[in-house]
Amino acid sequence: MLAPRLAIIGAGLSGLAAAWKLRDSSVACSCFEKSRGVSGRATSRTRHDVRLDPGANYIKAEPEEIEHLLVEELPTEDLIRIPGDVWTFDESGSLSPGDPGLNATPKWNYRNGISTLGKLLAAGFRVTDFHVASTDLEDAFMHLTTGRVVQ
Ligand SMILES: Cc1cc2nc3c(=O)[nH]c(=O)nc-3n(C[C@H](O)[C@H](O)[C@H](O)COP(=O)(O)OP(=O)(O)OC[C@H]3O[C@@H](n4cnc5c(N)ncnc54)[C@H](O)[C@@H]3O)c2cc1C
Repeated sequence: MLAPRLAIIGAGLSGLAAAWKLRDSSVACSCFEKSRGVSGRATSRTRHDVRLDPGANYIKAEPEEIEHLLVEELPTEDLIRIPGDVWTFDESGSLSPGDPGLNATPKWNYRNGISTLGKLLAAGFRVTDFHVASTDLEDAFMHLTTGRVVQ
């Protein structure tokens, strides 16, 4: 019988966390990502020398496995525990003190932005630059078709 192989479509934090969790298992993983870079919606950008997280902007340390992953398993040199409350603004630009429940719990990010988490998770394996357009199971083989025009 063939050893199990897993195709992970998308190198956002979900796909990367799955690959990370299986890194020492007998399941061989291949991860495919259509965008430039890893981390998906937990992305970071630089505008006018300012580092921004336009998607997810902090990581909650709940459940405790997340905190363990951040503080014990992954490198911590660039990890920051966000001090104080996270204020929010709405579409009119009006500021509010944020969600008291969320503000009461520890929140984390990285000096170079939240995409660092994706990069750290992806460090141990290869992410293939591939837009999966369709999947087709045939004779126990999964065929992945690309939608990208290869030049
Ligand atoms: C504005 C905003 C603020 C947020 N704030 C927070 C926050 O503060 N804290 C928090 O915990 N969460 C926050 N979130 C939610 C968090 O960003 C997401 O829950 C999380 O990043 C989703 O990860 P994911 O891997 O499931 O999906 P995604 O990040 O969407 O990753 C999916 C990946 O799959 C790739 N992909 C999709 N289709 C294909 C294909 N056919 N072939 C190859 N690759 C493919 C995509 O390019 C992408 O990289 C926020 C989200 C947004 C948008």
